[in-house]
Amino acid sequence: MARINLKHIRHAYNARAKAAGDYALKEVHHEWADGGAYALLGPSGCGKTTLLNIISGLLHPSDGRIEFDGVDVTELSTEQRNIAQVFQFPVVYDTMTVFDNLAFPLRNRHVPEAEVQRRVAEILEMIDLGGMAKRRAQGLTADQKQKISLGRGLVRSDVNAILFDEPLTVIDPHMKWVLRSQLKRLHRQSGFTMVYVTHDQTEALTFADKVVVMYDGQIVQIGTPAELFEKPSHTFVGYFIGSPGMNVMPVAVEGSSARIGDQVIPLAGAPKVGVGGKIELGIRPEFIRLGREGMPVHVNKVEDIGRQKIVRATFCGQSLSIVVPEDDEVSTEARITFEPKAIGIYADSWRVGTEG
Ligand code: ADP
Ligand code: MG
Repeated sequence: MARINLKHIRHAYNARAKAAGDYALKEVHHEWADGGAYALLGPSGCGKTTLLNIISGLLHPSDGRIEFDGVDVTELSTEQRNIAQVFQFPVVYDTMTVFDNLAFPLRNRHVPEAEVQRRVAEILEMIDLGGMAKRRAQGLTADQKQKISLGRGLVRSDVNAILFDEPLTVIDPHMKWVLRSQLKRLHRQSGFTMVYVTHDQTEALTFADKVVVMYDGQIVQIGTPAELFEKPSHTFVGYFIGSPGMNVMPVAVEGSSARIGDQVIPLAGAPKVGVGGKIELGIRPEFIRLGREGMPVHVNKVEDIGRQKIVRATFCGQSLSIVVPEDDEVSTEARITFEPKAIGIYADSWRVGTEG
């Protein structure tokens, strides 16, 4: 188990990309706590697998270094770093039995056979393959193979960290949910540092204590699910977490208020905005009050999603989503107010602090 420090990591896949400044990872500099359960969340192509492979040692970063518990491991192999990794696509030894597939990492490390038997049986139970121990892996279904792959990642009890790269992709939704709860339980029991890569926010929010949001080769926020929801540090986080995502609109900031068109929106304090650059106001659909008071909006569409309605409206030429209780009557010409505490001001997409 280890604390992981990523120090000024950058990565370009080849010399041409490097010369063009085209980095798959731009500047990753963070500390991940020992024993933490982290989800690495972001859209396809944002650099999740690249970062995971740099942590495990499959990939050497172009710049920067990695430390486990303060020890520089940048030049060490995955084996030397003592890391277990589960890949997006199942890696299974077809000619071996299910049992032997799981036992492999243990026997490889000369773990006593009695311990191998005990540990493998325990993990087989957990991944729901208890009855299949003696079967050859060849001919098993894709999701059974994926479970074997997952089991092999979990079987050792002496690793520094376990890294999962979208490990449940081919598993059906119900089993996904079951396995995720199992992983969470295992995390609580073992105290392993776990990093779980996914592009699915539900998966990230249910697995992790801390969610690491990546966008365009950068980590844009690390926080609890509540922090990501309530105080997105970047407009991308606001957009990516929650459904519908945060509303973002260009504004001009004057003291403790924001101006858009001929409307003035009071803020909770004066934001520290720099001169120039793009200034935007972010507000979640849940924190807009729709009624008879405030600024005028034109309602275009109302979508009933069960206990709530999503109102799609136009406000000062901008599209706006508003979430209201199911029973609310919504008229075409309505008025809105923003909860000042729920407003974020963003300069060049990053949230800026407020004074006062
Ligand atoms: P993710 O896992 O978030 O989908 P990746 O880390 O796989 O993203 O990819 C990040 C970026 O690096 C993408 O633009 C991708 O095209 C590029 N990339 C990934 N692997 C390679 C590679 N082996 N060679 C060149 N470019 C790559
Ligand atoms: Mg990937």
